[in-house]
Amino acid sequence: MVRQLRRLNSSKYKDIAMTKLLPTSTAGSLPKPSWLATPQTLWSPWKLEGEALIAGKQDALRLAVDDQRRAGIDIVGDGEQTRQHFVTTFIEHLDGVDFEKRETVRIRNRYDASVPTVVGAVSRSRPVFVEDARFLRAQTDQPIKWTLPGPMTMIDTLYDAHYQSREKLAWEFAQILNQEARELEAAGVDIIQFDEPAFNVFFDEANDWGIATLERAIEGLKCETAVHICYGYGIKANTDWKKTLGSEWRQYEEIFPNLRKSKIDIISLECHHSRVPMDLIELIRGKRVMVGAIDVASDTVETPEEVADTLRKALEFVDADKLYPSTNCGMTPLSRRVANGKLKALGAGAEIIRKELAA
Ligand code: ZN
Repeated sequence: MVRQLRRLNSSKYKDIAMTKLLPTSTAGSLPKPSWLATPQTLWSPWKLEGEALIAGKQDALRLAVDDQRRAGIDIVGDGEQTRQHFVTTFIEHLDGVDFEKRETVRIRNRYDASVPTVVGAVSRSRPVFVEDARFLRAQTDQPIKWTLPGPMTMIDTLYDAHYQSREKLAWEFAQILNQEARELEAAGVDIIQFDEPAFNVFFDEANDWGIATLERAIEGLKCETAVHICYGYGIKANTDWKKTLGSEWRQYEEIFPNLRKSKIDIISLECHHSRVPMDLIELIRGKRVMVGAIDVASDTVETPEEVADTLRKALEFVDADKLYPSTNCGMTPLSRRVANGKLKALGAGAEIIRKELAA
């Protein structure tokens, strides 16, 4: 019964998202309060333990929801307050992965990190984020979005001593992600987003089997689904990499034709201040597009007019009813002050365009 009610509620929320023009959202993470984790640090260790940690994560999630509400963000996320990292926290909860046995691997051909090892068959013996998603659902009547790592980005963030095949492991993860996604949907999540920055690096694999594994991950879902493909957090390894990409970043061109044909509903992209030619969005015409209108690699807070300008340019290639203003990527590495300023600019910038479209 409860489940049935939730499902009814869920479709109600979805209507709100669909009827409001230019519904805003973030790509995912927001900075954590300094009493919970070291600020402006990826993989920052928790400052609390046990029951206090659980309560602290929930308090932080509530603050993240409140910050989004005040900024006029329409599709609300948890700010990833309950996880240490967008990929490893999910993997940590799976069987078959040994977190004590660490190896150094090169992530997305860009930087070395000490990662866990796959030592046996991977499986999910219990839900990972479902309780957290229920908690988020209870905090707001607005549509909610939940992020999960995509299969290809998962396999790129560990050492595989068992399957010895990136593709094989990706299919295993896709099945596990599907189990989690179905339960998130039942918990009332309106949009499930898979983060696949690896699509921007391994084009051949993405086209050969990466997009297919993503479709396996969304099999049977009735809620909306999204894939987020970006140029990464504003950390040094990423900004150094971006310097090598030349004056035009055309990576999206490699995978957009197949993404357009895929069953994924929404594509989340980096647009503002990046060197991505905006007209590449034409290649996914027909899809809903989360347009990154906030630069997460800079402490300078955008003005609402700058956000509006990016959205105006995007509107040449996306129909207004399919444009979802968003951030380029997660904002974990930023200070809370800067991140909150950027959230407000996003909300205000979208409002400028709504008024223009209504005029
Ligand atoms: Zn991102």
